[in-house]
Amino acid sequence: MKSYMYFLCLCFVFFSCKNEEELKVYSKSKAIEATATQTNQFAIVIHGGAGTILKENMSKEDEAAYKLKLEEAIRVGYEILKNGGSSLDAVEQTIHVMENSPLFNAGKGAVFTNAGTNELDASIMDGKTLNAGASAGTRTVKNPISLARAVMEHSPHVMLAGYGADVFAKEQGLEIVDSMYFYTEDRMNSLKRVKRYEDEKKADNKTAFYDATIKDSKFGTVGCAALDKHGNLAAGTSTGGMTNKRWGRVGDAPIIGAGTYANNNTCAVSSTGWGEFFIRAMVAHDISALMDYKGFTLQEAAKEVIQKKVPELGGDGGIIAVDKNGNMVMEFNTEGMYRATMNDKGELTIGIYKDIEN
Ligand code: ASP
Repeated sequence: MKSYMYFLCLCFVFFSCKNEEELKVYSKSKAIEATATQTNQFAIVIHGGAGTILKENMSKEDEAAYKLKLEEAIRVGYEILKNGGSSLDAVEQTIHVMENSPLFNAGKGAVFTNAGTNELDASIMDGKTLNAGASAGTRTVKNPISLARAVMEHSPHVMLAGYGADVFAKEQGLEIVDSMYFYTEDRMNSLKRVKRYEDEKKADNKTAFYDATIKDSKFGTVGCAALDKHGNLAAGTSTGGMTNKRWGRVGDAPIIGAGTYANNNTCAVSSTGWGEFFIRAMVAHDISALMDYKGFTLQEAAKEVIQKKVPELGGDGGIIAVDKNGNMVMEFNTEGMYRATMNDKGELTIGIYKDIEN
C-alpha cells in the first residue's frame, strides 16, 4: 500500500512538472506572438471620406490631387510622431491639412446645408485619459478639430453646439473666418443638384431623403488615428456633414463613440459614412468594445461592425483605426474610401478605390 501511494505521488509530481513545462512553452510562444504583432512603435492612418468613388468617374488630375493631399497630410502627423510628439498633436495637425483643402468635406470645402450655410462638426479623443471634446454646427471656426480639442482641454464640457461653440472658439483665440471662407463652387453645385433632384422626386410624390444620389454628394469627411512613441492613442474626425442637411442636423462625426473613439487599452477609430447609421451602431466604440470584451483583433472587430452591423441596419461607410500595437486597419463597405497609412519605418500606402490598391 505504502509503495502504491509512493508511486502515485511520483506520477503526480511528474505530470504537474510536465504541465508546467507545457505552460512555459505555451506562454513563451504567446510572448513571441505578442511581440510579433507589435509591428509599429508608432503609426498613423487617415481617411478623407468614403462613398461611391469609382475610378471611371475620376479624372487623372483629380486622382493625383487627392493622393498628393493625403500624402501631405499624413506626412505632417508622421513627422510629429517620429520626433516623439503626441498622438493628439499628430491627429490635430494632420486634420488641419485636410480641413484647409477644398478637396475634402471639412473646413474649406464643407458641404452646404439646405439654407446655403456651412455647419461644421468635429471631435477628438485622447486614448490615455479617455478625455474627449466635440463641436457641432459651427459656422465661423476655420479648423473645427482645434475647437474640439479646446473643448476637451479648456472647458468642463465634452460637446458644444451652434452659436455658443463659435463664441467659445473666439474666446479661445482660435482662428475665426467669415462664413464665405467655406464657400466652394463645387459644393454649391452639389447643393443645387441635390435640390433639383429632390424637387423632381417631390413632383413624383416620392421623398428623396438621403437616397443614393444625395448620399454621394457629400464625400470627404476627414479623420485620423495615431499611436505615438509613448503608447498613447488618439483619434479625430472633422466634417461638413451631409449636403442639403436641415434643421440643425448633426451626424456621427462629433459624437464620441460613433464618429470618434480612442482608448489606450484597445484602439483609436475615426468613422466616415452615413452618419445616422453610425450613430445608431455606435461604430467607433463598438469596435473598441469587441476588442475589450470579446478579445477580437482590430481587424476582426472592424470587419464585424463595418461589414455586418452597419449594412444590416441599412447604412454604409468605413473607418480607419490603429490599435495599441500599431496595427492599422482601413475597413469600408462602399466603392471607395480616400485613405493612407504610414508606419514607423516611414512606409506609406495610399488608396482610393476598393479593388485597386494604388
Ligand atoms: N459621417 C458624416 C455625416 O454623416 C458624413 C460622411 O462621413 O461622409 O455627417
